[in-house]
Amino acid sequence: MTEMVVGIDLGTTNSLIAVCDERGPHIIASESGRRMLSSAVRYDDSGRVESVGMDARLGAAGYPTRTVMSAKRWMGRAFSERCDDPTGAAPCVEGLRGRAVFAVGNMTRSPEEVAAAVLATLVADAEHLLGFRPKRAVITVPAYFDDGQRQATRDAARLAGIDPVRILNEPTAAALAYGVGRPGASTETIAVYDLGGGTFDISLLEVTPPAKDQQELAGDEGLFRVLSTAGDTHLGGDDLDVLLARYLLRQVAGSNAVLESLSPHERISLIAACETAKCALSFQDQTVVRWSISAGHIRSLPLDRPTLESIAAPWIERTLVACRRAWRDAGSPAIDRLLMVGGSTRLDAVRHAAAALFQTEPSTALDPDEVVALGAAVQGAVLSGKRRDLLLLDVVPLSLGVETVGGAVAKVIMRNTSIPTQAVEMFSTSVDGQSKILIHVVQGERELVADVRSLARFELVGIPPMPAGIPQLEVRFVVDANGMLQVSAVERRSGRRAAVQVLPTYGLSAAEVESMDSASVVHAREDMRRHRMIDLIVNARLDLRWIGEATSRVRDSLDRETTESVDRATQELSLLVARAEHDPDSVDADELHRAKEALDRASVRVHEVSIAASLKSMAAEAGGLSNESRTT
Ligand code: AMP
Repeated sequence: MTEMVVGIDLGTTNSLIAVCDERGPHIIASESGRRMLSSAVRYDDSGRVESVGMDARLGAAGYPTRTVMSAKRWMGRAFSERCDDPTGAAPCVEGLRGRAVFAVGNMTRSPEEVAAAVLATLVADAEHLLGFRPKRAVITVPAYFDDGQRQATRDAARLAGIDPVRILNEPTAAALAYGVGRPGASTETIAVYDLGGGTFDISLLEVTPPAKDQQELAGDEGLFRVLSTAGDTHLGGDDLDVLLARYLLRQVAGSNAVLESLSPHERISLIAACETAKCALSFQDQTVVRWSISAGHIRSLPLDRPTLESIAAPWIERTLVACRRAWRDAGSPAIDRLLMVGGSTRLDAVRHAAAALFQTEPSTALDPDEVVALGAAVQGAVLSGKRRDLLLLDVVPLSLGVETVGGAVAKVIMRNTSIPTQAVEMFSTSVDGQSKILIHVVQGERELVADVRSLARFELVGIPPMPAGIPQLEVRFVVDANGMLQVSAVERRSGRRAAVQVLPTYGLSAAEVESMDSASVVHAREDMRRHRMIDLIVNARLDLRWIGEATSRVRDSLDRETTESVDRATQELSLLVARAEHDPDSVDADELHRAKEALDRASVRVHEVSIAASLKSMAAEAGGLSNESRTT
């Protein structure tokens, strides 16, 4: 396994390492579970690396002359090119031959040395998980990096003891992670919109996949041609946090208040609170921003999503200006796919603006912070010849469905359906007054949720209270030609809707599909029995409730024989249901089915009396109305 090639996203703010093995591409977390390493390095007084990561970033204010952040901005650049340094970190000075270097205490450190410290930390993390030290890596860089910047990245890798087998463009990596360029597909134009914390990049790529009969694999970089790039190296989510902070400050201190007049403590606290609120508003409609103005004193203000979006509008527009420029430079081709990269693309308003400009739905299935590292790992696997058994497909390899009450699976699209395809199913609720519905999207052939692969969960919220069974939930599954699944749900009575996108084949190998499929054959009989038991329990519970309610409403109008037989059947079924819920194997499904039917038969009279009573009360109500209308 030592020939394994890992993928590394060496970022301005954060860096990640990933590997693509038989489980597919995945991020390698550190021993403590951290998936992202802050690209900050602190040196000790003698110039040795003291700390790398979040600890160095958070401590930067305390050790400003010994901490280097955002070294990537200076990689392979001359000091005369000048760019801003983050405040509170070691400054850049002119080194040998006009090169940019960092003044660390009374020494200097080159951007390559700083990057090497970050790379070495990532490789040490990987060594811990893999059990050996990976020696070869694919490392990503922005598409606009020139030869000098790419060479500096290679040098950084060698300093860290890594052989940089390929320097890969970040947008190409994102496209590889999304499986773009599969053999046999047609040529596509892809826009990669990358909005992180401090930088914005837009890249347009043309992808020409190999012919289907060619054994060449997706992932050969020769298939990807960069048509144009544009961006802003000082535009990112951090700027939005500051815009938000300025707005809130004007709310509390008047239109002339400026952020710079606050104490450093309050300013940092306010900006950090704004970032938290901004992230919260990507999954809720409103929040409260709380920041500390002095020791023990907190100030708070509510903030809702429309306000955030109106503050963000000019900031988003700055990204669109760059997008239009890149698009024009590429000759304004039709965009087939829009890929979203970088944490700030979690904002709905950002996604909508990019989608409206490029006139295509954005792909958001993969974590926007991880997609570049994952793509680098895919490229690494191709280079080491490991990617051979990954799935290349034009059918849905495993059935797709949703979890229903009791942990059963309702399949919506069956396996081996050719793509693109779509299907719709109707569902309802099982509890009265449910104001939200959780939709759990799953994949696999088995009948119970415990035995299938979980793909995504999302919530439909804000449903007005209705009795169980009344909401009409339409769930639509759409699989596009690239295998991307979009699941949308709409509650028809209230019009509330929500959606999620996933790549169901992500990280799935051919062998895994086969084993999931054969498991369903082996367990078919047992699965059917368990699924039937769940359905019986759910339906018996509903019967017990409805018949119980109807009986108590009309008990006085029923003959003794009916009430006695309903009570007996109710008791018998309740006991069986309770037992089955406790231990499904202790109850025979046929026995449960018979008990349910016995209750249904015993309650026929209850329904007749109940319907007659309802009709009578409706007639009385109708009379009341007409009387009323006559008097007015
Ligand atoms: P990156 O540089 O790609 O790690 O992106 C970091 C940026 O993404 C920071 O400015 C974060 O505040 C921002 N970010 C992360 N999650 C969200 C979210 N849910 N909504 C809006 N911005 C986010």
